[in-house]
Amino acid sequence: MSTMSIHPSVDNGVKKGIPGFAGGTLQCRCSSDKIEVKVNSDVAHNHVCGCTKCWKPEGAAFSVVGVVPRDKLGVTAHAEKLSVVDEKAAIQRHACTACGTHMYGRIENRDHPFHGLDFIHVELSPQQGWEEPRFAAFVSSIIEGGGARPEQMDGVRARLAELGLPPHDCLNPTLMDAIATHVAKRNGVLE
Ligand SMILES: [Zn+2]
Ligand SMILES: [Zn+2]
Repeated sequence: MSTMSIHPSVDNGVKKGIPGFAGGTLQCRCSSDKIEVKVNSDVAHNHVCGCTKCWKPEGAAFSVVGVVPRDKLGVTAHAEKLSVVDEKAAIQRHACTACGTHMYGRIENRDHPFHGLDFIHVELSPQQGWEEPRFAAFVSSIIEGGGARPEQMDGVRARLAELGLPPHDCLNPTLMDAIATHVAKRNGVLE
């Protein structure tokens, strides 16, 4: 079995969220003058992600990331400390220039299937009750990120399955179908 940390918030078991949870705040990891983001919604499609772009805590192989409607998210303190990590990336990750924490990721391209959704990490929230992560995405990518050696991957996938996080090497079928539907509609294949 793998002894590696998937992510500190799931390593001891996935804690279920509270149905009807109405949202809360996210704070960066600075000891003072914290950036604060207010989210007036529960998170959706929350999952662990092995890609090399998502922010993750030191020592974790995966991030925990989910989405909220962008009109439900606002920066309520120290917006002056935010800066976009990579302006050219599809998801523009707004990070704290002092502590490096990614506060939210936003898609500005209106043709993108996930336009209108912001990506957040609920571990930055002092409130409990956010919907729990329910699957694992981009699992193979942790090899690229240096989080695991190829021979460890069977153990990693077994551990994810044991935690109730079915492993996928892209997104899960729900989100892959949503992307394909968006593209098919844009191309006139689907009405
Ligand atoms: Zn900070
Ligand atoms: Zn990711």
